[in-house]
Amino acid sequence: MSTVKEETKPETTVEVESFLKTLFQGHIAEDLVFPFPEIPKDVKETVEAFAGAYTEFDAANLDSDKMDKEHFFPREAVKAMGELGVMGMTIPEEYGGSAFSSAAYCRMTEVIAPLDASASIVVGAHLSIGCKPLVLFGNEEQKKKWLPDLASGKLVAAFCLTEPEAGSDAGSLKMTAVYDPATNEYVLNGTKQWISNGAFARFFSVFARIPSDTAEKEKHKEISCFAVIANEDGALPGLSRGPEEKKLGLCASSTCQIIFENCRVPAANLIGEKGHGFKIALETLNTGRTSLGAGSVGGSKMMIKLAVDHATQRKQFKTRIADFEMIRHKITRMTATTYVLESMVYLTAGLVDRHIGDYSLEGACCKVFGTEVLWQNINDGLQIAGGNGFMNEYPYGRALRDSRINMIFEGTNEILRLLIALSGMKELGDSLKEVQSALKSPLAQRGILTEYAHKRLKGVITHDKLTKVHPSLAPEADQVGRYAGIFANACETILRKHGKKVVDKEYQQERIADVLIDLYAQVATLSRVTASLAKKGEEKAAGEIEIARWFCAHARHRMVANLKALEKNRDDACTSISDRVYEAGGYPYDLWA
Ligand SMILES: Cc1cc2nc3c(=O)[nH]c(=O)nc-3n(C[C@H](O)[C@H](O)[C@H](O)COP(=O)(O)OP(=O)(O)OC[C@H]3O[C@@H](n4cnc5c(N)ncnc54)[C@H](O)[C@@H]3O)c2cc1C
Repeated sequence: MSTVKEETKPETTVEVESFLKTLFQGHIAEDLVFPFPEIPKDVKETVEAFAGAYTEFDAANLDSDKMDKEHFFPREAVKAMGELGVMGMTIPEEYGGSAFSSAAYCRMTEVIAPLDASASIVVGAHLSIGCKPLVLFGNEEQKKKWLPDLASGKLVAAFCLTEPEAGSDAGSLKMTAVYDPATNEYVLNGTKQWISNGAFARFFSVFARIPSDTAEKEKHKEISCFAVIANEDGALPGLSRGPEEKKLGLCASSTCQIIFENCRVPAANLIGEKGHGFKIALETLNTGRTSLGAGSVGGSKMMIKLAVDHATQRKQFKTRIADFEMIRHKITRMTATTYVLESMVYLTAGLVDRHIGDYSLEGACCKVFGTEVLWQNINDGLQIAGGNGFMNEYPYGRALRDSRINMIFEGTNEILRLLIALSGMKELGDSLKEVQSALKSPLAQRGILTEYAHKRLKGVITHDKLTKVHPSLAPEADQVGRYAGIFANACETILRKHGKKVVDKEYQQERIADVLIDLYAQVATLSRVTASLAKKGEEKAAGEIEIARWFCAHARHRMVANLKALEKNRDDACTSISDRVYEAGGYPYDLWA
């Protein structure tokens, strides 16, 4: 298979701050998001050819309905996916992979997910999370030893973090790895829960605690990452696999417990530094999230096609239902949100491919916005289909079942909203400390301060402007600049009011995250439409301009509501209403009681 490497890969990593983290300080780092990343023609052709080959493979080898009903993913299909090159897409070339750029991988995920969501889990659990600790943190010897077999699919990977008692709070995991100096091995004990590819994986990235007398709040520093490799027959002394879980969706994919009972692993299988396991797990998940957004783009495009086919053929009241305004509204919403999501995903993939230092918040935005947009789009598609939408012979029910997990795994959308709000606030808090110390410091007089500190010393943050947006979208560009400034001031007010206690203020964190997601969505859209205008001219880009205006108008309403509620809200009532319900153990106001 031909390679789809990052053609524009620079010699060194670009040392630039995160676009979204600096937005918390009212600064719009426009150079990071303009121009919208262009995919070179030859890369496009190669990826599309590979996508075509995969589509043919899917048609010939994956009977999606049968697999879903039988709750089984044929093992020979996994092998064939390896032979096709799918299992090595993002693995570096020197280890037998194809070194796909992030954009190319996102495109493939976009194609694979709607064809069969379980297949996309096989690939995602293998590439996005299973092999990733080795690719990102493994040493040369480890990479040479395992990556070629992972790239060919001879070894399938799984990511073992979750435990029965440690889900969102992964840092509280209990599994232990005790060093045995007599054999220079670690002895693993514990149970990993809901492990994708669990039944047939032979390479496991396992997170376990090397017990020490660390203080309670430093406990995550005990966690390390280990490569555990089962033999060719899948067996390994001390490792066993639980039965397949019976799931709501992704039924053909394998999800089971992986149980470790005195499972011995050579010390040489430690991935990265001892005690860095938690960081490795978080970094792995950060890098994988953009592709979940890409899968949601693929699913949404499929829903739009189904909705248009049905709406234009079905007549009621002697009229195509497509012509009713409430149906038009749904089609518009589906199309606009898909366009915006596609813009966010490929803007973020562009940041990854340019080796921008930190894209954790951008990836989280793609995952949260994307998985919720897909859910809404499937719901809209089903509604347009009417009663047919409810029948199992149509694809809507399956799409609902398969897509629901997206809002739960790889960081639930609640946890990602916390991540978005708190990481940004942390950065802002650090800057505020800089302002305070600058006021006391001689550096202030010498002008050695960040841009943010300068603005703060001058007074309230005014707003940066988006200067690179095409003039036909000037009001939208102005809106983003204005609200970015209001957002930064609001975050600072919250931070000054609550100090460290801001970590407990989840009502506010949710609003902050939602405003930031809306800001990023608008920036991505304006950047893309500006690029389209430059390429196609105003007439041919008219549809995209309209989508940008439609979306920005709706985003403004949401931003205004969220920003107002940061100051004035009914949060106290929310706490007391839920308290009463908890006390009653359920609904306390039954009319018939
Ligand atoms: C099909 C499937 C495949 C999976 N694959 C893998 C895999 O390959 N490897 C792996 O390691 N794990 C895997 N998981 C596990 C998955 O990542 C976890 O289910 C997820 O992290 C959530 O953990 P939990 O289910 O324990 O929910 P909990 O953490 O118990 O959360 C329950 C609810 O509480 C919310 N919540 C928790 N904490 C907070 C908070 N601080 N504020 C607000 N809300 C909060 C959550 O958002 C959620 O809505 C898989 C799960 C499934 C279902």
